[in-house]
Amino acid sequence: MAKDYYCPICKGQLRVKNSILLSAKSEQNEKGLIFLNSEIGDYSITTHPTFKVHEGQEYTFFCPICHATLNREENPQLVKIFLKDGDEEFEVYFSSLAGEKCTYKISDKSIEQIGPDANHYKQYFDVPEEDKKYL
Ligand SMILES: [Zn+2]
Repeated sequence: MAKDYYCPICKGQLRVKNSILLSAKSEQNEKGLIFLNSEIGDYSITTHPTFKVHEGQEYTFFCPICHATLNREENPQLVKIFLKDGDEEFEVYFSSLAGEKCTYKISDKSIEQIGPDANHYKQYFDVPEEDKKYL
């Protein structure tokens, strides 16, 4: 079954084919659309050639439908969207820093950390001891 990613604010569907479509802005106010691979753990992105994503720079992400900011207010280095996978619902967080590879997939039952940089924000999620097997 297809995984559906949607905006936490307007619930608009963000997945188009195999990509998650978001609008993004760099610290230098460069703006564009970004296609993120919808496969968790695959960090390839696609943009128009005129919108270059600079490694190590922080980006602000927006819902392309309602334009809400998706970076967390309490920690702008994390971006939050929702995932519906069959009957299961998750919060999915990823880093707003270009090139930083970490994803957190969270339901009321489990916290899953994915990616080589996943330890960077693990204190933010306060991973319970019994879920350490996912690290
Ligand atoms: Zn939205």
